[in-house]
Amino acid sequence: MRVTKLEEHVNLIDVETGGIENFIASYVLKSKLAAIVETGPTSSVPNLLAGLKELDVRLEEVAYVAVTHIHLDHAGGVGTLLKSLPNARVIVHPAGAPHLVNPQKLWQQSRKVQGQEIADLYDEPEPVPAERIVPVRDGMIFDLGNNVRLKVVETLGHASHHQSYLETSSLGLFPGDAAGIYFKSLNVVVPTTPAPFYLESQLTSLEKLVNLNPENLYYSHFGRTTDAVKKLKTYEKQLRLWVSIAEQGFQNHQDFDAVRDEIVRRDESVQKVLRLIKDHPILRMTVLNNSVEGVVKYVERIRTAPKD
Ligand SMILES: [Zn+2]
Repeated sequence: MRVTKLEEHVNLIDVETGGIENFIASYVLKSKLAAIVETGPTSSVPNLLAGLKELDVRLEEVAYVAVTHIHLDHAGGVGTLLKSLPNARVIVHPAGAPHLVNPQKLWQQSRKVQGQEIADLYDEPEPVPAERIVPVRDGMIFDLGNNVRLKVVETLGHASHHQSYLETSSLGLFPGDAAGIYFKSLNVVVPTTPAPFYLESQLTSLEKLVNLNPENLYYSHFGRTTDAVKKLKTYEKQLRLWVSIAEQGFQNHQDFDAVRDEIVRRDESVQKVLRLIKDHPILRMTVLNNSVEGVVKYVERIRTAPKD
C-alpha cells in the first residue's frame, strides 16, 4: 500500500491488489467529511483501510463510498469495506446497485469471463445492505464541506451502468474506465472496451467529460494526469481508429487475430504498453484481447442488425 497526496483535498491510495503496484487506485477526498472513490476488490480492502489510517481519516468521517461501476476491480470491495465504515453510504449508478446488493451473479459472471485465476486474485464480493445505497441521478452533487463537492456524471459505454465524478476543488475528474487505462511511465492510454461495448454512448460520454473542461484526470488504472482534455480527445481518436480497423476486418472477412494484429500494427501506444505489461499477472491477459473483442463484437452487432 502506498499513499500519495495529489491536491489539497485529493489523495491516492495504491491498494496493490495481489501485490501488484500501479494497477488499482482508490482515491480519498478529505475535507469536513471524507469520501472514497473506487474501492478496488475485496482482497485489497485491508490495504485501503491501512491507507485511510495513514491519511488520518477516521472511519466515522467517511460519508460516501462512490464507485464508477460495479466491476470487481472497481467496486468488489464495497461490501467488505462498509463493515468498517459506520456512516458511509454508497454512490453507484442505479442500474449497478442491485448487483452490489446481491453480488452472486456478478461473481459468477466475473469468474466465467475473466477466469478463475483473476477472480481468485480479486476475491468474492460481499453484499451491500440496500438501505446504505443512495438513489443517484446524473448531475447530483455531494457536499463534503470547504468547497469540496463530488458531482455525478453519467458516462455509459464501458458498461451500461458507468458513471464518472467531477471533484470541484481541483477540477478533477474520476473517469473510472470511461477514459481508458493510463500508463504513467509511458504517458499513454489504451482502450478498455470489453464486450458488450457501445461506441456511441462511449463517445457521448467522452464529449460530456471534455465539456466539463477538467484540469486533472484521476484514473482508476492508474494515477493522475494534468493534461486532462488532451487525454480525453486522444482517447476518442484512438477508439475511432480501433473501430475503423474492426470495420475493415469485418468487410474483408478477417478473423479475430488478424484484426487484433492490425490494431497492434497501427496503434503505437498499444505496442509500447504490450512491451511493458508482458509479465503483468492481469493486464497481459485482459488489456488487448478483451478490448479488441468488445470492439469486434460491436462492429458485428451494428453490421448484422436488421435495417428498418
Ligand atoms: Zn477497470
